[in-house]
Amino acid sequence: MSLPERAAIIDAAAIAHNVATIGEFVRPAKVLAAVKADGYGHGLITAARAALAGGADWLGTAHIEEALQLRAAGIDAPILAWLHTTGASFRAAIEQHIDLGISGWELDRVVAAAQELHEPARVHLKIDTGLGRNGATVADWPALVARAAEHRNRGLISVEGIFTHLAVADEPDRRETDQQLSVFREALVTAEAGGLVPDLRHAANTPAALSRPDAHFDMVRVGVGIYGQSPFADRTAASLGLSPAMELRTTVANVKRVPAGQGISYGLTHRVEAPTHLGLIPIGYADGVPRIAAGAPVLIRDRRYHSAGRVAMDQFVVDLGEQTDVQVGDEVTLFGGKSGIEAADWGAAAQTINYEIITRIGARVPRVVI
Ligand code: PLP
Repeated sequence: MSLPERAAIIDAAAIAHNVATIGEFVRPAKVLAAVKADGYGHGLITAARAALAGGADWLGTAHIEEALQLRAAGIDAPILAWLHTTGASFRAAIEQHIDLGISGWELDRVVAAAQELHEPARVHLKIDTGLGRNGATVADWPALVARAAEHRNRGLISVEGIFTHLAVADEPDRRETDQQLSVFREALVTAEAGGLVPDLRHAANTPAALSRPDAHFDMVRVGVGIYGQSPFADRTAASLGLSPAMELRTTVANVKRVPAGQGISYGLTHRVEAPTHLGLIPIGYADGVPRIAAGAPVLIRDRRYHSAGRVAMDQFVVDLGEQTDVQVGDEVTLFGGKSGIEAADWGAAAQTINYEIITRIGARVPRVVI
């Protein structure tokens, strides 16, 4: 297959493999594959189909619109959408059998839509056990349970799940995860006392799925891991048995020799100390590569080089050294594939995390699914 000269190569089989790998670890818990944010940058539909091929039981999105796109593509697997705005298409979600995360105010809107449609809405109640984002507070939880039980008794909703989200599962030594899980277990007891015993209790993201069996409950919601990225700062994806599903690749756009003292890129934040060759890499921050990612690795001809100076809108520069065989047109891998470079390496150079690197690769970079 001839590839575009700038591409994010998406390995669908790697996504399937990663889902299966995580699945082996967490069974009998079910696996929800988080495919929000365009499948973490890999393509919503591509990621969803690959995850299902790998054995995912559920798909997860933030927004209803993302879930509706999955349905429009003919995907009939269970889907949970958990982040809503007041104008959200609750009616369409119910019609399309999309489960809805409910933190509080949404319940009335969802019930009103269910009444209009004469069809019960499928909901998962969310409790905030410590992340401080969405979810009912511990104080508001009993009232949410009571309202939900009442609507359930009137046939307007079915409560399919109860869930929470963890704040520090990527740092296994921190105690807050224990506290969150203990609050979650108490919330389940309160729900049961209120007559709600849903089939799906879920709390774990990728790091908890991989490190906390006590957080698996009935289902794990895994995102970054299915794309072959490690959620832990001190562990590579390979050490977790995960394969990178995105390779960011291009070709060298220019090579030239420069004298000692040559400044590089806007701001002249970097100057070469000795005569050297500079290679020009035609991907920049408009493509999602962070402007501050100086010193990040790339692979050319099986050797690592490093970005020098600021990343510009469309391009950045690597220092190729005084002697080089690198030529215009040579393939360059920024991360992924067989390069051994992880998106996390770019994250480290840009003071961010692999999640942000992969989800921000821009629309100008064609996705090529292999
Ligand atoms: N569950 C919820 C509610 C989320 O918002 C996310 C992603 O941020 C996930 C699960 C998946 O998290 P991760 O990518 O760390 O597996």
